[in-house]
Amino acid sequence: MLKRDFLRLLSLMLLGYSGGAGCAEKEDVNAMPQTKKRIVVIGAGLAGLAAARELQQHGHEVVVVEARERIGGRIWTSHQWRDMPLDLGATWIHGVKGNPLTALADTIQATRLNTRYERSMTYNSQGKPLSDAEEKHLDALRDSVSSALEKAQDKNADATIRQVIEPLLRRHDTSSEAYRLINFILSGEIEQEYAGSADKLSAHWYDSAKAFKGGDVLFAQGFEVMTRFLASKLHIELNQVVEAIHWQQAQPSPVRVVTQKTEYVADAVVVTLPLGVLKAGRVRFTPALPAAKRDAIAKLDMGVLNKCYLRFQEAFWPAEVDWLEYVAPKHGEWTEWVSFKRAAKMPILLGFNAADRGRAIESWTDQQIIASAMQTLRAIYGANIPDPIDYQITRWATDPFALGAYSYTPLGATPHTRTVLAAALDNQVFFAGEASDKNYFGTAHGAYLSGLRAAEEILQA
Ligand SMILES: Cc1cc2nc3c(=O)[nH]c(=O)nc-3n(C[C@H](O)[C@H](O)[C@H](O)COP(=O)(O)OP(=O)(O)OC[C@H]3O[C@@H](n4cnc5c(N)ncnc54)[C@H](O)[C@@H]3O)c2cc1C
Repeated sequence: MLKRDFLRLLSLMLLGYSGGAGCAEKEDVNAMPQTKKRIVVIGAGLAGLAAARELQQHGHEVVVVEARERIGGRIWTSHQWRDMPLDLGATWIHGVKGNPLTALADTIQATRLNTRYERSMTYNSQGKPLSDAEEKHLDALRDSVSSALEKAQDKNADATIRQVIEPLLRRHDTSSEAYRLINFILSGEIEQEYAGSADKLSAHWYDSAKAFKGGDVLFAQGFEVMTRFLASKLHIELNQVVEAIHWQQAQPSPVRVVTQKTEYVADAVVVTLPLGVLKAGRVRFTPALPAAKRDAIAKLDMGVLNKCYLRFQEAFWPAEVDWLEYVAPKHGEWTEWVSFKRAAKMPILLGFNAADRGRAIESWTDQQIIASAMQTLRAIYGANIPDPIDYQITRWATDPFALGAYSYTPLGATPHTRTVLAAALDNQVFFAGEASDKNYFGTAHGAYLSGLRAAEEILQA
């Protein structure tokens, strides 16, 4: 039986348990808390699963309520291609040293593959590998961009990245290679990483997150090995779209969580709704969230990163390269590609579209997206390369249960905004999720750590 089916069956068996937050795992009596709490965790992504597991291990009654028909949230491994599980959400553990996800992956002995930025090849806008002179030019422009941003970070007033870089761009004709190279740096190194547009990212705070050292690894069986492991002993109810959270209720059930189908009562709730869902007001809080919390939700922003996997009969690109980069004639168009040829021995390319461009192409048909991708690949590898034999494409901005890929810090927000987003309300409503993690927002490990932090808050409350 598939784990997913097993979990669903388990949920159904435990439905009779309604009125309290369920607990599927036999409790560890040594971990029994003095006061056993009924806790509802909203969202079965990394943050929710980490929080639920921690709380259940401490003897609390926990139920995870998830809108989708699957667990994982923005960890989503596709099995459409039987010989190659593909991650449509997060792919990599970024920075393996000291990363809590490395320890978790070690526990389950998950097979990991590495990709390296050093194994990259950059092509100019004519599709030719950069010459030594062009590499030097790119390095010099990269230094100029970095130093402009560093100077901006020393100033009192914040500005957007675009505002800071505008004077640099104005020095060059819009049709010049230098202009394209600066846009390549903005798109490839900033927008693709932070998912926000240079027009909106805060120059002061866009890169305020910490990072773990070490390389990046991906999972041979897909990132879902991690979420499946975390979920394995939890009571998770799928297909439960939360519509309202009533807090500050009279005892003995201070919080009511109302879904499209049912209602849960609990002593505490952990909200791991993605920032995009909170911003859209898809879940009603009664009473309304305090002004500071609403302000934090309004000020932070949800970015976009979309993936387009193309599968070919065989690889026509250099087999030893992991990252292919393109100095696109137009800002952000197919700047970054990953090859799975070396790491996974598969003739698969993954093209990214981030920020404004990532959002814009979501309204295109699959065929339009593929035609555009192939135009770029043909500009680099020649008109005769074959069409892909298959593809998989994401549309995270319009995914109703994410409404974006991950959060970024726009002009007007600061790291403190995330602290306000994370703050608990009356020891009843606790907040987790990547956007609430001041140190590691926008990442899988940030989501995981935020879940542990929220669990700890409940344990201490
Ligand atoms: C394309 C892409 C690539 C990425 N690449 C990486 C990477 O390589 N490395 C990395 O570290 N990070 C990466 N990330 C970021 C990482 O995936 C996220 O930061 C992390 O998975 C977020 O976890 P979370 O638990 O905070 O949120 P989620 O995983 O989104 O969990 C929230 C859950 O809430 C559920 N939900 C939403 N609305 C409701 C509702 N009304 N009722 C009930 N449930 C609801 C959702 O369905 C979801 O399951 C990537 C993300 C994307 C989209």
